[in-house]
Amino acid sequence: MKICIIGTGYVGLVTGTCFAEVGHDVVCVDNDPAKVKILRSGGMPIYEPGLAEMVKRNVDASRLRFTESTPEGVQHGDVIFIAVPTPPHADGSVDLSFIEKVAREIAGCLTQHKVVVDKSTVPVKTGDKVVETIKRYSKGKVEFDVVSNPEFLREGFAIEDFLKPDRIVIGVRSERAVAVMRELYKPIPAPLIVTDINSAELIKHAANSFLALKISYINAVSAICEASGANVIEVANGIGMDARIGRRFLDAGLGYGGSCFPKDLSAFIKISEQLGYDFRLLREVQRINSDQMDRFLKKIIETLWVAKDKTLGVLGLAFKQNTDDVRQSPAIDLCQRLLEEGARLRVYDPQAMGKARAVLKDRVVYVDSMDDVAIGCDALVIATEWPEFKKLNLARAKEVMTHPILFDGRNLLDPAELQRLGFVYKSIGR
Ligand code: NAD
Repeated sequence: MKICIIGTGYVGLVTGTCFAEVGHDVVCVDNDPAKVKILRSGGMPIYEPGLAEMVKRNVDASRLRFTESTPEGVQHGDVIFIAVPTPPHADGSVDLSFIEKVAREIAGCLTQHKVVVDKSTVPVKTGDKVVETIKRYSKGKVEFDVVSNPEFLREGFAIEDFLKPDRIVIGVRSERAVAVMRELYKPIPAPLIVTDINSAELIKHAANSFLALKISYINAVSAICEASGANVIEVANGIGMDARIGRRFLDAGLGYGGSCFPKDLSAFIKISEQLGYDFRLLREVQRINSDQMDRFLKKIIETLWVAKDKTLGVLGLAFKQNTDDVRQSPAIDLCQRLLEEGARLRVYDPQAMGKARAVLKDRVVYVDSMDDVAIGCDALVIATEWPEFKKLNLARAKEVMTHPILFDGRNLLDPAELQRLGFVYKSIGR
């Protein structure tokens, strides 16, 4: 099938490339000329495991190409995906101006029936607005369908999540659109859930809010573990083996971050408020999340007595493992708060140094290797759960540090091992 993706970011590029991989003919549009230039010259604007090879394979097979021109993309696609940003306003509501602009642009170039699919995460009832906008700006001359098809991929595991999803959600208004979407997703083996558009939009916000709730739940439990001498990992294992609960998203740490959970939670709270419901439960989830960072920071400062003029090595800047994305990263937040305390920072991340540099600028020292971060440090902090940090050369770190102190914000290391090596080791909930 002929597909157009408007917005070639983390979601759009993965979606377009995976659809090409399963045999569709895809044009990806982005209005950022620099991004299109990188992609056209064979480079990658983001880090996502396996994606560079897949893009190359499909570009070489002429199933995937990139353009800045929305009219070119819309003309090509029978199905048009919208995958543009939906950032938060200061009050937590969603800035839908990107979606509205794309809807107008699509309307302006419609000449025959198209299925317009919203893949961006949007508040319930956005589909109605998209229908209204396309009707208005195409002057009602051309038939079209609007579909909500929320995306559930995780950065770092995006290809696997896209090609082997737990489910595919399709919110539709017409049988014609259902048939097109079934055909499109035929090569991807997953249950297809067909709903109305409002329900599909709600599924995404309700799912992300539930996952954030699970993280805040275990983080709250971690506070009780610390106060009582229990071990949060044992507790999570014990809870998680109950099939009704499940072990995933029960890892205590610095709290959730990234470009999705914080904004989707705020958006869900806001839209609920507009619909007349005060979602206090989710406001509490947010509060626990920010408390978790405060508690960790307190632990660092209490141990060092004062952080001012101390040198801390920070391992991890991305908001989670396997990505270069630093948007709303707890690790970056932690760095900024330590800098406010007057600490000096030496930082390292396997993939996110470039993107972190744009935020932290020259206020920190960027170190080229994980093991060199420790040189001259008063303490080390693990802020992102990159698996390779488990292989940190602790004996060498101890030698090159002023004091062997390690704060593990992701419970990556073994407390017994650290104790044996003579470290002061503080982690989360144990
Ligand atoms: P992103 O910022 O990485 O990508 C969006 C792209 O859209 C950018 O490249 C931008 O240049 C482009 N763009 C903006 N306006 C445009 C226009 N008018 N025409 C063409 N291109 C335009 O964002 P993302 O992380 O891919 O997120 C996109 C949406 O998907 C958001 O609603 C997000 O909440 C949702 N989502 C993201 C993830 C994730 O893990 N990143 C997962 C599921 C859902």
